[in-house]
Amino acid sequence: MSTSLPAYEIYAVKYAGPIVSSVAMVLWLTDWDTKIERNYYVWVVRGNGETLIVDCGVAPALAKARQIPGYVNPVEVLARIGVEASEVQKVIITHVHFDHISGIELFPNATFYIQDEEFHFWIKDPVAQKPPFLMVTDPVGNRYLADLEGTERLVCVKGDQAILPGIELLSAPGHTPGLQVVAVNTARGTAILGSDCGHLFRNYQEEVPSCFIVDLVAWMTTYDKVKSAVSSIDLLFPGHDMKMLTDYPMVADGITRLV
Ligand SMILES: [Zn+2]
Repeated sequence: MSTSLPAYEIYAVKYAGPIVSSVAMVLWLTDWDTKIERNYYVWVVRGNGETLIVDCGVAPALAKARQIPGYVNPVEVLARIGVEASEVQKVIITHVHFDHISGIELFPNATFYIQDEEFHFWIKDPVAQKPPFLMVTDPVGNRYLADLEGTERLVCVKGDQAILPGIELLSAPGHTPGLQVVAVNTARGTAILGSDCGHLFRNYQEEVPSCFIVDLVAWMTTYDKVKSAVSSIDLLFPGHDMKMLTDYPMVADGITRLV
């Protein structure tokens, strides 16, 4: 992106974790016997008079039902840097897995931006009701999303699209049918919030996805696309890496500034 565009700051907001699993869950068929920790995040993109939230986190009821370790209501965490969830105007939904969509009710005045393909798969396609997809679905969050159809609070984006100067949504399928990543102009160039396109920085460094992939060939193509769109690989941020909390300046409890 051009330097004449406004530059934004990006914050990682941890609302749950650490969650422990086999390495194989986050690095395709690698190292079944070793455990790894991951966190759950939403992100804040701030600048040029705008505050955007990327992903919704998990609503309290689902966090309780799923007994998610280390859970704090994202509303409470966001308030630590002065973001009032009830006043947020724009929320980007990267994909419709429960840890990214369940908290949609926490942003009652927001307009949500989602890829058309992602909306149609999870809300309309009967395949989304099959067990492997239900495992990662929050029916309550999906119902809220479905009910927004046809209102001005839902924008279904078709492919790559700028939504503000310096903020572009990029179609990035593979992890889900219509995942989108967010390209953000920053003081250091174009950063990309990749969400679960890669769970870890290692997914990008090693060209190996997590095991949660609906289309491996699409993922490899997406990988090349996001890598060529980002100004440098260290500005390509994953969805769940512990390092987003430990390796960046902490600005409040559970919140770091990535760029
Ligand atoms: Zn996730």
